[in-house]
Amino acid sequence: MRIDTTDTPSPPTSSGEPSPGTSRRGALAALFAAAALPALAPSSARAAAIEGTVRPEDEAFMRIALEQAALAEFPFGTVIVRDGEMLVKAHNLGSGDPTAHGEMTAIRNYIADEGPAGLKGATLYTSGEPCPMCMGAIIWCGIGRVVYAASIPQLSKVIGQIMVSCTEVAERTPFATVEITGGLLADEAIALFRK
Ligand SMILES: [Zn+2]
Repeated sequence: MRIDTTDTPSPPTSSGEPSPGTSRRGALAALFAAAALPALAPSSARAAAIEGTVRPEDEAFMRIALEQAALAEFPFGTVIVRDGEMLVKAHNLGSGDPTAHGEMTAIRNYIADEGPAGLKGATLYTSGEPCPMCMGAIIWCGIGRVVYAASIPQLSKVIGQIMVSCTEVAERTPFATVEITGGLLADEAIALFRK
């Protein structure tokens, strides 16, 4: 949607249209102008997603996520790490449960064993960029950093995707901040779909 209300034209004064219609359009224009204000103020809306850089330990953990992915009907794998220690690893559980994405499975398995507290501030490695469902779960659990391999646009060429980036989900979440790094070993993640 294009948001540009700065040059909203004034209601016509000589068109002969009845005034109720004109005033309704004026009210709508004012509503749209109000709705556009947050989008025009950049800072708060964008503070909830930070573009991170690759750290030395990232590749080794991503390789474990890729090993998990290679085990799955739909090749997606996830590893959750805190303070350099792997908390849990998991993969997509296939067509029997459409919500059992690798990220969801890892989160659920960890919470079932340990409860949710340990996920706060953890790093989640995943072979595919988190979908909106998984990114929602990541945010609700307080996971502070996401590292993914293949992006949603890349994945959409080999499997159906909801075309909303995890960065957008984070940006629209004012109560949490997530550092996001994408593209690590992306070619290897995509290659798993060709086996
Ligand atoms: Zn997902």
